[in-house]
Amino acid sequence: MEQDRIRNERRHLLKIGTLTVAAAAVGSYARSAAAQGASQHLDEKDPQAQALGYQHDAAKVDKAKFKNYQAGQTCANCQQYQGKPKDEWGGCTIFPGKQVNAKGWCSAWVKKA
Ligand code: SF4
Repeated sequence: MEQDRIRNERRHLLKIGTLTVAAAAVGSYARSAAAQGASQHLDEKDPQAQALGYQHDAAKVDKAKFKNYQAGQTCANCQQYQGKPKDEWGGCTIFPGKQVNAKGWCSAWVKKA
């Protein structure tokens, strides 16, 4: 009888232990995914970024190809930019889930209202 009780208790503790480890693993995965999502910079080589001529540095824009570019235009003063004025990187409605450089530019630039 006593041995049965101990065995049951052990089984119960093992179950709790397994659940705790599983929960910790899920929590750690969610945290790292959130951290990545928050800091993932847009790759200049991303097909959509290339199609729109995106550059992290507006000075490097291919001006022959993207004739709508005008000096002074940057992500920081674009309507699509979601970063705060002093942020180096911020979200952009054209590139969901990615961060663009405040000094960058792409051909979807629209003057901030
Ligand atoms: Fe930058 Fe505006 Fe192009 Fe987004 S749409 S990448 S904020 S210039």
